[in-house]
Amino acid sequence: MDLKKLEVWFVTGSQHLYGEETLKQVAAHSQTIAKSLNAAKQIPVTVVFKPTVKSPEEIYNTILEANTTKNCIGIIAWMHTFSPAKMWIGGLRILQKPLVHLHTQFNRDIPWGTIDMDFMNLNQSAHGDREFGFMMTRMRLDRKVVTGHWEDPETLDQLNAWARAAAGWNDWQGAKFARFGDNMRYVAVTEGDKVEAEMKFGYSVNTYGIGDLVKVVNSITDKQIDTLVKEYEDSYTLAPSLHKGKDQHSSLREAARIELGLRTFLEDGNFKGFTDTFEDLHGMAQLPGIAAQRLMGSGYGFAGEGDWKTSALVRAMKVMGSGLPGGNSFMEDYTYHFEPGNNLVLGAHMLEICESIANGKPFCEIHPLGIGGKADPVRLVFNSAAGPAINASIVDMGNRFRLLVNEVEAVAPTHDLPKLPVARVLWKPYPDMKTGCSAWIQAGGAHHTGYSQNLTSEHMRDFADMAGIEFALIGKKTDLYQFRNELRWNEAYYK
Ligand code: MN
Repeated sequence: MDLKKLEVWFVTGSQHLYGEETLKQVAAHSQTIAKSLNAAKQIPVTVVFKPTVKSPEEIYNTILEANTTKNCIGIIAWMHTFSPAKMWIGGLRILQKPLVHLHTQFNRDIPWGTIDMDFMNLNQSAHGDREFGFMMTRMRLDRKVVTGHWEDPETLDQLNAWARAAAGWNDWQGAKFARFGDNMRYVAVTEGDKVEAEMKFGYSVNTYGIGDLVKVVNSITDKQIDTLVKEYEDSYTLAPSLHKGKDQHSSLREAARIELGLRTFLEDGNFKGFTDTFEDLHGMAQLPGIAAQRLMGSGYGFAGEGDWKTSALVRAMKVMGSGLPGGNSFMEDYTYHFEPGNNLVLGAHMLEICESIANGKPFCEIHPLGIGGKADPVRLVFNSAAGPAINASIVDMGNRFRLLVNEVEAVAPTHDLPKLPVARVLWKPYPDMKTGCSAWIQAGGAHHTGYSQNLTSEHMRDFADMAGIEFALIGKKTDLYQFRNELRWNEAYYK
């Protein structure tokens, strides 16, 4: 996904009081900043300069236009001078796009020897931005506030995180996710209110009979399968039995047929992700393994067992991480290593981990699957790189959605796992295993997550703010006692 196709608008507030000369300088400074942000390598989207807004009408009209401009995913607002904030009420009341308040000023340093009252009149964001901030706070509007000089790398990094979150948020608006079959029977955390989700998040989830998919899968031609099998051979290290002429080659062809069918179904229906369940595979030869892995690799959201919330989250994370090194995948906390001093979580799924987090060339293998009662599924097997990562989960609390994030440190695998033929990751949760896992469970976090190597908790917090949902972070500084209180206090806040 090319995020440069998306725009954020750089909007500077002022008023007519200052006169033409000063307003000309305001416009020139704003243009310089917008241009510099647009050119900065940290900013993944296009930054568009907008003329200074100086009256309630100009503010209203600019925000109205931002709301209705499809490519505009958000607004960067800055008050170079003083912009009396009652002028902003009308515009902010209709604001539907994410907003970041850039609390900066044109000059980095005070020009000690030359500073006079003209300079003071032009460079007043130190108080102009407070007036604007009051109004957004008074109106209870969630936004990000970034303080710092506009050329400061930290400022750019914070704007980068916000812009990426806005891209993910924009992608959700009007997005469609396909659900094959229902939820895995009796599972709780993967359930949720799809009506509320559509109202809150902007995406829809609708169900499709597995038979509708099977029909498409069965319409795939041998020639299409030949081409995809060739791609498998070129991209992965194939298990000997899957090679042409060997006894399980037909299973590889069947896996390719399933991938092509799913891909066609998703493309034809303009879906951004899907979920399936091993309990409803009537007419399918295998549970989609390599298909789900590679479709995630192409940018589709996915989660198993009917988990549409995680599927949509994985999709949003993929959009947010576009162009960054590292990947994003569906993940499940599978099993623990409780060795004193070296506690670890082994993350995996039955099959479906995205190839974008693979370290090196994946192996393509076929093994029996204990559940589901279908033919042995083909899957990609790989390890994942060491380094900082996050796990994220959206849970439906009944009265609200909660986005829960745990910062983790992935570690390099220390052992071969010859009898575990699935893609897997090892990580240490922050602040430590005991606190991290206890806090996650106290917060009701799912066993399914979106796992990211290239996003941070900052991206996710900005994203939660845009959605207007609760955000709970388990990170390096988390204290279990404080964290539990935070959850209790949030309960009152969202009542
Ligand atoms: Mn699962």
